[in-house]
Amino acid sequence: MFDIRRFKIVLVMALLVTAGACAADVPEGSAGATTTYTDDAGLQAEARRIHDSVLIVDTHVDISRRFVVEVDPCGPTDWQVDVPKMVDGGMDVAFFIVYVGQGERTPEGHAAAKATALERFTAIRRMAEELCPDAIEIAYSTDDVARINAAGKRVAVIGMENGYMVGRDLSLLRQYHDLGARYLTLSHNGHNEISDSANPRSGEPESEHGGLSPFGEEVVREMNRLGMMVDVSHISGAAVLDAVRVSQSPVIASHSAVQGVVPIPRNLGDDQLRAIAAGGGVVQVVGLGAFVRLPEPEKVAALDALRAEVGIVGYADWQRLTDEERSEYRRRAAEIDERWPGGSVSDLVDHIDYAVDLIGIDHVGISSDFDGGGGVVGWENAAETLNVTLELVRRGYSESEIEQLWGGNLMRVWRENERLATAAR
Ligand SMILES: [Zn+2]
Repeated sequence: MFDIRRFKIVLVMALLVTAGACAADVPEGSAGATTTYTDDAGLQAEARRIHDSVLIVDTHVDISRRFVVEVDPCGPTDWQVDVPKMVDGGMDVAFFIVYVGQGERTPEGHAAAKATALERFTAIRRMAEELCPDAIEIAYSTDDVARINAAGKRVAVIGMENGYMVGRDLSLLRQYHDLGARYLTLSHNGHNEISDSANPRSGEPESEHGGLSPFGEEVVREMNRLGMMVDVSHISGAAVLDAVRVSQSPVIASHSAVQGVVPIPRNLGDDQLRAIAAGGGVVQVVGLGAFVRLPEPEKVAALDALRAEVGIVGYADWQRLTDEERSEYRRRAAEIDERWPGGSVSDLVDHIDYAVDLIGIDHVGISSDFDGGGGVVGWENAAETLNVTLELVRRGYSESEIEQLWGGNLMRVWRENERLATAAR
């Protein structure tokens, strides 16, 4: 018996534990301790060689409100991703995310979301254009990725998370694309004008549109015209199938694990995985502890008790806490996490194995959701990225398969989106 409602609460709590509070409240100081896998020297050397020779792409890295504004990501930070950690971990390309949490679905709410989005674009561009242009550069095309990588710099790409930022204004997609956005996650937690969410907010029905709304279908077609990838992470199962059906270009799931291993709504079902693959797309399996392994009942009970004591039911309660209350909560949650650790690199690769078995190596990739709730034991920050390659080598993946998983497939899908957009013009 799997109690979905209970698990939703657990999931929220697990996110709070591991990251402070998902992308809605980007965590500070959650970088975690460095974990080193020990294994035989030959395996390590082979993993190192492959890791250094293939393009390593992470399709989902959230940014803090303090990103660039208060803290310089070009130097060492207590975040899971900064430029030095990318260099240390051989992470060549990171999609930095313009994210806005969902508020009221009114003209005022949508205008505020747009204003926040524009600030986030500015922050990412300032990192690359002002703070450390010699170390990192923004790619606006697949050709840019190759050129910047060949020059020995880190590559930043801009993704957007939550179609709420589009409101009901289709013209904003072109504006966001002009600013550099190369994918848009159609929803976040809660239904919006575009799509049903896999995780409705409290008080919302399970489904509002039955998948994508008619406006959502227009959004997908406009994204196709622009060459902006459609991201189906976070949206409902029915909406995934709608997006694949409507989209002329292959779609991505920028940060999703699979229900075949952990059956929660936020993970992708087999039908969704097959549909994405049939459309030529790619599923970027996410290294987020609570998505890749179900927590022990004892851990759930301990988190429930802590939550009841503090009075947290949802994000709104979390936002009401003072800074002191939050840090005390995090301290105690970290103790629970230490006692019952979350998912590991091995759990993450179990999801990759499952997806590869079901839909084939051409349609699977990897993402972290760092600084937005992501991280697993062994891959807790960008500096530890080699550990994922090590586990892939240990499981018998070949160099060419690892190249596909770490970015080859994603780059193929992005190129196809570019090609079809150009052809349509
Ligand atoms: Zn997300």
